[in-house]
Amino acid sequence: MTRCLITGGAGFIGSHLSEALLEGGHTVTIIDNLSTGSFDNIQHLTDHPNFRFAIDTITNETVLDRLASECEVIFHLAAAVGVKLIVENPVHTIETNITGTEAVLKAAQRYRAQVLIASTSEVYGKGNRVPFSEDDDVLLGPTIHNRWAYAASKMVDEFLAFAYHQEKGVPVVVFRLFNTIGPRQTGSYGMVVPRLIRQALRDEPITVYGDGQQQRSFTWVGDAVNAIIRLAESPEATGQVFNIGHQKEISINELAALIKELTGSDSEISLIPYEEAYAEGFEDMRRRLPDISKISQVLGYQPSLDLPEILERIISYHKEEMGL
Ligand code: UDP
Repeated sequence: MTRCLITGGAGFIGSHLSEALLEGGHTVTIIDNLSTGSFDNIQHLTDHPNFRFAIDTITNETVLDRLASECEVIFHLAAAVGVKLIVENPVHTIETNITGTEAVLKAAQRYRAQVLIASTSEVYGKGNRVPFSEDDDVLLGPTIHNRWAYAASKMVDEFLAFAYHQEKGVPVVVFRLFNTIGPRQTGSYGMVVPRLIRQALRDEPITVYGDGQQQRSFTWVGDAVNAIIRLAESPEATGQVFNIGHQKEISINELAALIKELTGSDSEISLIPYEEAYAEGFEDMRRRLPDISKISQVLGYQPSLDLPEILERIISYHKEEMGL
């Protein structure tokens, strides 16, 4: 049994990670300021004897210090996330991501805790290599475009993590999540799958941005969470960075058509120019595919679910949520 602290534990991925760790017999404390996370995500865990929560920000040093002193592993997921939120709140994004990660690493150093840092495929920026592998160079756009502030802030988080590992001996692992989907992910911050499913279930137009030819690969949240836990349990992962994702690509046009088919929706699929969807100057990525050979080698990781099965599960979740 390990005592775990999850920052951002009431978020989409944090709440699934909490569940999986509790099922594995560990104790879980979460800290979350409920900015993009929600109490509803963890409500069902609050009666569990091994679960505790603190509604607070990770930049509250007194609280973070106490929680860190009571755990062996910190899963650091608290961050500003979602393209829409990031583009609209650049100051909040940069400050939350960098200050928060620094606070977590400092606390981990004081108590010799292991830290797993959540990073993102965004750090590959607009590099056009297919697939992206961990040691690739990164190519970001100009600093005048907010989107790249998110990527840059997450890169600083990664630099900080490796610096604390090399200089201060903190055992860190960094994982870069590619598009991860599942129940409880909200469309409010721009994520494509929950948005399109809800639009389809309401028979509203399904909004595909740009020409819809851009491609993504989507991973089941349960697969991502298992990979994160197994990275924490693998001594050889320490001091390294890992992609977590799925190797099958789909265009957003195809995704929209698949969602329409699986929901039996009468919605039309409507193409929305990027300038209407996002702030001016927004740059999207055409493709974003992970090379997962590193994590496959170290953990034997392979995604267990393909997109149609994943979508079926998420559609059932939203139907229930919407009372359909
Ligand atoms: N997207 C879309 N319609 C929406 C929301 C997003 O076509 O209602 C597109 C978005 O422009 C991107 C892709 O879907 O090309 C994935 O978007 P998301 O924000 O989920 O993740 P990203 O890969 O951009 O981080």
